[in-house]
Amino acid sequence: MNQHINDISTIDREYVFHPSTHLGQFERGEIPNRIMTGGSGVYVSDREGKRSLDAFAGLYCVNIGYGRTEIADAIHAQAQQLAYYHSYVGHSNEQIIQLSRRIVEMAGMGMSKVYYGLSGSDANETNLKLVWYYNNVLGRPEKKKIISRQRGYHGSGLMTGSLTGLPTFHNAFDLPLGRVLHTACPHYWRNAEPGESERDYSRRLAAELDALIRAEGPETVAAFIGEPVLGTGGIIPPPEGYWEEIQKVLAAHDVLLIADEVVTAFGRTGKVFGSHTYGMRPDIITIAKGVTSAYLPLSGSIIGERVWKVLAEGNDKLGPIGHGWTYSGHPLCAAAANANLDIVEGEDLVGNARDAGAYFQQRLHDAFDDHPLVGEVRGVGLMAALEFGTGPDRKTQFDPNLKIGPKVSATALEEGMIARAMPHGDILGFAPPLVITRAEVDRIIELTTRAVDRVHAAL
Ligand code: PMP
Repeated sequence: MNQHINDISTIDREYVFHPSTHLGQFERGEIPNRIMTGGSGVYVSDREGKRSLDAFAGLYCVNIGYGRTEIADAIHAQAQQLAYYHSYVGHSNEQIIQLSRRIVEMAGMGMSKVYYGLSGSDANETNLKLVWYYNNVLGRPEKKKIISRQRGYHGSGLMTGSLTGLPTFHNAFDLPLGRVLHTACPHYWRNAEPGESERDYSRRLAAELDALIRAEGPETVAAFIGEPVLGTGGIIPPPEGYWEEIQKVLAAHDVLLIADEVVTAFGRTGKVFGSHTYGMRPDIITIAKGVTSAYLPLSGSIIGERVWKVLAEGNDKLGPIGHGWTYSGHPLCAAAANANLDIVEGEDLVGNARDAGAYFQQRLHDAFDDHPLVGEVRGVGLMAALEFGTGPDRKTQFDPNLKIGPKVSATALEEGMIARAMPHGDILGFAPPLVITRAEVDRIIELTTRAVDRVHAAL
């Protein structure tokens, strides 16, 4: 260790490799660092004593808000009793047993079992392996391709980074790997033909998907993965009828549906699962973030009955499933999840996401529908976005060098609020903790208005 350095901010630049960061700029001090030290409710604070309203709940994960001591207590109690044991070959712990029943019951939709990981990325890696295993059991070794969407986000692993449909996650990493196909991003406002209804647009995308599957050969296509509401790619709720039309195509070609609910599960859209909001009948559901509100890392693959049966029978043919992480079903993470879900259910945070969410969406529309910098206001429940643009309908994209989205986000931060500049296009994203009150929603609108007005005035 360099003994001369004792300023913690400099040590950060010298020793920490930060994710999704321009490494050189950070090391040279060209990007500010912010050392977070505390939080309460929808507010987080840093070492300098600056407090911000976190309108993105960390990375849309701190659903119960910051500083809930119930979670700390539950982790503490479990750690005192048994901090760890693995869950291989029949070993278990009370926390994951209770948690699994609870999650399967909350999901409904013919779900059967939960397999645990630690991140959304590793859960999706698991899902792909299970889909391949499934088709091997069924004697369909060719049926292995996975379809995701442009601008979909499914993680940054090798296969999951490949599924992710954002160039930043592919460029210079030699991704995507094989077996991954991308279909259209369902963004009605930007991509529909003039005069096309939402329903017709959804039908057109379903027809494109159908054509893609036929061109590849249905006997080679195993699964389709999608977020009920496209998240990191821009917080884009599906157009009317989208999931209904897509599911018809998948059923016709015997293609499994993986609903990636890492962001949407446990209330974000105003129902427990995003699949409930949009009438999806997934075969596998990915969960992470909201299952523990990020108090500890935990993810899961919820497996539907149809897939489960084949996997279980398949073991007789192919041997026990050769897939497992050391930390699958970690009792501390499961204790955090159970305590978190007690709060989600006990305080009806799903109901709050619906009601405070409806209020939030309305206030955003009132404040920004006619704003000269804003092209589209969109969202559902407690997730929303403003997309900035220019021209008569504000649909023309700004020169990316102007960095309008990042500027609005940075200005909002100066005003005391965190809202995320989404990585693709000039989009400001919101996903506040589900405990948010109407007064706090009002505050978000006030601070966002100031930030958007300031950037507009400076143009
Ligand atoms: N899927 C979705 C829909 C996500 O939003 C994310 C993370 N934002 C992931 C997967 C990956 O999760 P993690 O970062 O925990 O690996």
